[in-house]
Amino acid sequence: MTAPYRVLATDRVSKKGLAPLRDDDRFDVVLIKESSDPEFAAGLKSAAGLIVRSATQVDAALLDGAPGLKVVGRAGVGVDNIDVAAASERGVAVMNAPGGNTISAAELTMALMLAVARRVTVADRSIRQGRWERSSFRGVELRGKTLGVIGAGRIGWEVAQRCRAFGMDVIVFDPYLAADRVNELHPHLVSLDHLIESADVITLHVPLNAETRGLIGEGSLARMKKSAFVLNVSRGGVVDETALAKALSNGRIAGAGLDVYEHEPLSPDSPLLDAPNLVLTPHLGASTKEAQVQVALEVARSVRVALAQGDLSSAINASDLANAAGLS
Ligand code: NAD
Repeated sequence: MTAPYRVLATDRVSKKGLAPLRDDDRFDVVLIKESSDPEFAAGLKSAAGLIVRSATQVDAALLDGAPGLKVVGRAGVGVDNIDVAAASERGVAVMNAPGGNTISAAELTMALMLAVARRVTVADRSIRQGRWERSSFRGVELRGKTLGVIGAGRIGWEVAQRCRAFGMDVIVFDPYLAADRVNELHPHLVSLDHLIESADVITLHVPLNAETRGLIGEGSLARMKKSAFVLNVSRGGVVDETALAKALSNGRIAGAGLDVYEHEPLSPDSPLLDAPNLVLTPHLGASTKEAQVQVALEVARSVRVALAQGDLSSAINASDLANAAGLS
């Protein structure tokens, strides 16, 4: 008997994470390393499900080559590589894995915070150049400092917990918290102005949208403590990179750590590359063994219930699909 649902998985999605589909007789899981492989286009013709990471562009042309497709799963959070509107028009559900990266992104934030506070990357470079400059790299302790969390969702919350263990005081700005979280965080909730002006370490964990674009720019940098650090492991564009490079070069703030950029990969002309006290990583927030398995597991479970039970409730375009089907 052939399995009723063929699911194509590409972009080197974790094989281990696909267990919920591979271990279920109802699914025929076909792993194709890269979507440029001719087998991929051929496989799409009979696929009911498609699972990708970030490399494959799931656009209208790809969707038109997959007439039986019911669901696209993104093993990760961002769906920038998926044309969600085109998928909705064709009745294809789009699902992501919002929780699988949380701990990895929170831990990378801690790595950047400690690297900036203790000047780890510059000290490493100096010692490799044959120098032994202990007095040049005096850092600061995190204990007793105030952490300002902008966006206290999954990742922001995990960062706050870890910083408490370091003896930091935590303040939070997040105008969109659910009521139960507001009650829980109440003593720590402050205005954005208060956070900008009083935090020693400002860490961003917000989505990129019209409201958050440029949230950290010339105006906010001018009001921060001179000793402040800014960390961004959320989305490029939330921090104005030109303004940040200038603030670091002028000594307006003391340091920063970035994992995400307005344009990725970062251009060799970026002013960030010459800015002092700045630690840069190439969008590594979710790059751990554990996160890659977790995001694949999370999306494989969603794809399984979507195909086998018709449950599209976790689709990010669920309301568009319902509207199209006249169910709203
Ligand atoms: P989440 O949805 O759990 O949390 C986001 C929080 O931001 C929510 O609590 C929301 O209320 C808050 N928020 C929204 N608009 C805001 C605003 N204008 N001001 C203040 N708060 C606001 O998301 P998450 O899983 O914690 O992810 C946070 C960010 O990290 C996202 O942008 C995500 O794409 C990014 N991320 C990056 C990596 C990486 O590799 N660097 C990995 C995972 C997630």
